[in-house]
Amino acid sequence: MSYDPNNIFARILRGEIPCKKVYEDSHALAFHDINPQARLHVLVIPKGAYVSWADFAARGSTEEIAGLVRAVGKVATQLGLDASGYRTLANHGPDSHQEVPHFHIHVFGGQPLGRMIQPPGR
Ligand code: 5GP
Repeated sequence: MSYDPNNIFARILRGEIPCKKVYEDSHALAFHDINPQARLHVLVIPKGAYVSWADFAARGSTEEIAGLVRAVGKVATQLGLDASGYRTLANHGPDSHQEVPHFHIHVFGGQPLGRMIQPPGR
């Protein structure tokens, strides 16, 4: 899948669409999800043009990958979630229902989150 430079997160990165920014550095931007699925729901995205986890893992530089992972940690700390806990999640491809084709990591917290994912058939 080739990268669509007009996807919604690319437009947020270019400042064409507003976001509720939580954190930014040279590798990553974090902002509140427009349709939160938990009391706290933040998206952390790399600044580079990557479609998904698979694309980022294959083509991202070591610095970009480390930068994104560190940004997720900083965001969780900044949101005060280290003690209470949080969940990270990244969707890749159709089975996961990935909607936005710019790699992103969801960070959920601020409440008990239940266990893992819904098992098949429920
Ligand atoms: P995905 O299903 O691709 O893993 O998640 C995409 C997420 O992006 C969804 O949780 C959705 O609510 C969020 N989202 C979609 N459009 C926008 C937007 O314009 N602004 C923000 N802040 N979040 C968005």
